[in-house]
Amino acid sequence: MGLKIWMGDKLVDESLAKVSVFDHGLLYGDGVFEGIRVYSGKIFELGAHLKRLYESAKVIRLEISMGIDAMGDAVRATVAANNISEGYIRLIVTRGVGDLGLNPFSCQRSGVIIIADSIQLYPEEFYEKGMRVVSASTMRCHPMSLPPQVKSLNYLNNILAKIEAIDSGVPEAIMYNHDGFVAEASGDNVFIVRDGILFTPPSQAGSLEGITRKVVMRIARANGIEVIEENLTRFDLYVADEFFLTGTAAEVIGVVGIDGMVIGDGKPGSMTKMLREKFFECAHGRGE
Ligand code: PMP
Repeated sequence: MGLKIWMGDKLVDESLAKVSVFDHGLLYGDGVFEGIRVYSGKIFELGAHLKRLYESAKVIRLEISMGIDAMGDAVRATVAANNISEGYIRLIVTRGVGDLGLNPFSCQRSGVIIIADSIQLYPEEFYEKGMRVVSASTMRCHPMSLPPQVKSLNYLNNILAKIEAIDSGVPEAIMYNHDGFVAEASGDNVFIVRDGILFTPPSQAGSLEGITRKVVMRIARANGIEVIEENLTRFDLYVADEFFLTGTAAEVIGVVGIDGMVIGDGKPGSMTKMLREKFFECAHGRGE
């Protein structure tokens, strides 16, 4: 049996969950989305995801056809209808059906789609042994273009970096901004450890304000680790003692090599492992 998908204002069978060819989400990548985890039957950080969704929508002048509380109810209803206790939710808001022109205001009503399913982004081996990444030559969007804090349906900037990673035989690429500072990975936030201190670039360097990032920073501070948000360069990544990425789908994953360089002793570091464990404890509701 197929999934139950939220389409517009109700749940429908997967076979009936169809999008119009005139939806500007398809025609122009015009819309916003969220990826959300379900752990132990609880929707992880739902409030933070909804806040980011509505902020992203505001910035692109997209009026979501339902209020934030109704959206929360719709997400919960979709999770319940599919009996998901460990899974992944994709919440999408498109600009809606319009004409073939660019004008977003030709679209009468935004389209809301909620899918609740499962996900495994990387093989288990990557989590145990760590993964290698490359520096992308594709720069992260300038903040005066599409702001990187907007989680929009247009991911081509990140996809071009992802292609560079795949071409180099690794799963992820690190993106830098127009000033040469580390922005983020193509789908995750970046952290490094140096001399026992945890560093991550500020979101103004060109990254999404990651919710996993925020939780990891909170856990680190609660465990007495100093956390500093500051601009990082390629040098900082190369000489890091530890390096890891965070994201809803990737969770916390160690990076053990970049651009052919080995990080630390070539294995995920102790702070990475500790934060990964504590992240799961927190996600599964056993406290921070
Ligand atoms: N940066 C980008 C570009 C992303 O797409 C994501 C989400 N996959 C993240 C960072 C991590 O954000 P979060 O922890 O909220 O999933």
